[in-house]
Amino acid sequence: MIQDRALRPTTKVLPEHIRLNNRTLVLQTLYRSGLQSRADLARETGLTRVTVSDLISELMGENLVIELGQRQESRPGKPATLLDINRVAFQIVSLDLSGHTRLRGAVLSLDGAVLSSSEVELAGARGEAAFDKVAELLAQVIARATAPILGVGIGSPGIVDRAGVVRNAPNLGWRDQPLQARLQDATGLPVRVVNDANAAVLAEHSFGGADHDLLLVKVGHGVGAGLLIGGRAIFGERFAAGEIGHVVIGTDDGPLCVCGKSGCLEAWLSVPRLTAAIHDATAQAATPADAERAVSDILTEAGRRLGIILAPVVGALNLLEIVLSGPPELLDGPLSTATVETLRSRTMATETGDLTLRMTAQGEDIVLRGAAVMVLSAQLGVS
Ligand SMILES: [Zn+2]
Repeated sequence: MIQDRALRPTTKVLPEHIRLNNRTLVLQTLYRSGLQSRADLARETGLTRVTVSDLISELMGENLVIELGQRQESRPGKPATLLDINRVAFQIVSLDLSGHTRLRGAVLSLDGAVLSSSEVELAGARGEAAFDKVAELLAQVIARATAPILGVGIGSPGIVDRAGVVRNAPNLGWRDQPLQARLQDATGLPVRVVNDANAAVLAEHSFGGADHDLLLVKVGHGVGAGLLIGGRAIFGERFAAGEIGHVVIGTDDGPLCVCGKSGCLEAWLSVPRLTAAIHDATAQAATPADAERAVSDILTEAGRRLGIILAPVVGALNLLEIVLSGPPELLDGPLSTATVETLRSRTMATETGDLTLRMTAQGEDIVLRGAAVMVLSAQLGVS
């Protein structure tokens, strides 16, 4: 088996790292499996009973783990006490800044359920005015939490670096906006800011049952992708991994894009572009049957273009699972059929024969839920 480790180790493993790793392992096991005894945890994690008991005492002291009664045993002897993550002790606050007309926020449970949500209209706000809208929404959502807040997760459009600085988000008029640090100062809470498509892929991983390497394509005002390889989100050298929206497809030009090039993926596939093309085709059609055919042609061509752009990525990474997030009435039909057919015809059947392409089941809360995963992962090490 190939060892999953970095090629060039740069630091030695310290005892406190081992302790943190074991603590995370126990929390992760409880988060995923729930209701385990100390003996179950020792068996499941390979840690000793003493280590598990010690870590559980520490976690109970922080109110992160609770005892939930005893297991009914058929065998004689003392029944085992069952433990779980204290799922109601904390809540998570998430914001989704990717909508082009309104910003959304929610309070979520540790299991990723939306408990309450709020919205503010962006009303064309840009730059500092857009920041003020975000701060206003965040304060509103925080006020609605009914338990201590574990942290704040934010999915932002554009390129976001590891420190939560939004390097470039044209729709919000932000360049080098230190969103994470500013909101952390404003609220006194731990804040994590990530790109919206990267948040979406984390939601699919944690709550959508995607256990494997995964590429998620998010189609909205723009088009972006999130990549999860070997259990890690891939951010890239300049934090722009997955930014496929302004990659030109093919050599036959195509529609002019806002960026000045012709035939970018976004020019074929973004929601405003598809909606406008469908509107025009429907208006020009002589009969309803003609209109239906024209719409199907537009969606098929967009799906084919997406397949062309994804084929080398799928081939290079040997991906078997692709998930689409966006309006199902546009994506789930001729478009996704054309994408998967194009992918199959352009890659090696032996390697990608099992390739699946599906719609996400996370709906419009996908970025909110993914931002919550960032908080769970940063604060507790679970996902
Ligand atoms: Zn472009």
